[in-house]
Amino acid sequence: MLRAAMSQEMGRALVSVREKVQHAAARRAQSLPAVQPRVVAVSKTKPADMVIDAYSHGQRYFGENYVQELVEKASDANILSSCPEIKWHFIGHLQKHHINKLVAVPNLHVLETIDSVKLADKVNASWQRKGSPEKLKVMVQVNTSSEESKHGLHPSDTVELIRHLREKCPGLEFVGLMTIGSFGHDLAQGPNPDFQVLLKQREEVCEKLGLPMDAVELSMGMSADFEHAIEVGSTNVRVGSTIFGERVYSKPVKGEASAN
Ligand SMILES: *Cc1c(COP(=O)(O)O)cnc(C)c1O
Repeated sequence: MLRAAMSQEMGRALVSVREKVQHAAARRAQSLPAVQPRVVAVSKTKPADMVIDAYSHGQRYFGENYVQELVEKASDANILSSCPEIKWHFIGHLQKHHINKLVAVPNLHVLETIDSVKLADKVNASWQRKGSPEKLKVMVQVNTSSEESKHGLHPSDTVELIRHLREKCPGLEFVGLMTIGSFGHDLAQGPNPDFQVLLKQREEVCEKLGLPMDAVELSMGMSADFEHAIEVGSTNVRVGSTIFGERVYSKPVKGEASAN
């Protein structure tokens, strides 16, 4: 396809996602915080040109789940010059030996995948060494489906990790909870149970730590289910293929194994 046509198509996809987000937010229960949901455009496997294109169509938040790929895109000279207000979310599993690399990423906005006290301490130390005047925003990733293969913290450990973040990690700012959840839930069977687990987790966290509900974001929902996720309370959806098109995995990404 010609570049101009591709760019137009992406522009239309972004407009359509934004409309769906607005409509889904309007269908939320009154009891949920009326937070404007953020769309994080997940650009993994897609070239820098497509990020710049989406930015030119007004997109500001982008997500990546491999550290090396994020480092390359976030420091790409064209992205740096064309996208001054870009904000990157890291949404993949973070291995300890990649922390320093991640922390150095320009325009890193939120690290969504803290899932242990050890990781929190190491990220905190690395961020403090960097000497940034601002705290690094972090979310805690919860393994809501309790599948062995999934990263994330067991729900029963969430409150203690957040207490630790708030009391022992002065370089980090806890901003919310994140889940990937099991794939392929059939909404005809009712609400996605993973999202319900995350909502319950927020209630418990707010009650035990005395936090207001609107101070704890929920990152849940992807291309297949972002509207449902927003209806039930998501404040941060991570949408990849609906914006950028299907991903083609032609060669394995160097040095990293799994997507989640
Ligand atoms: C790839 C990815 C997404 C986006 O998936 P789509 O189905 O393409 O929208 C969202 N969240 C995480 C953690 C991902 O790895």
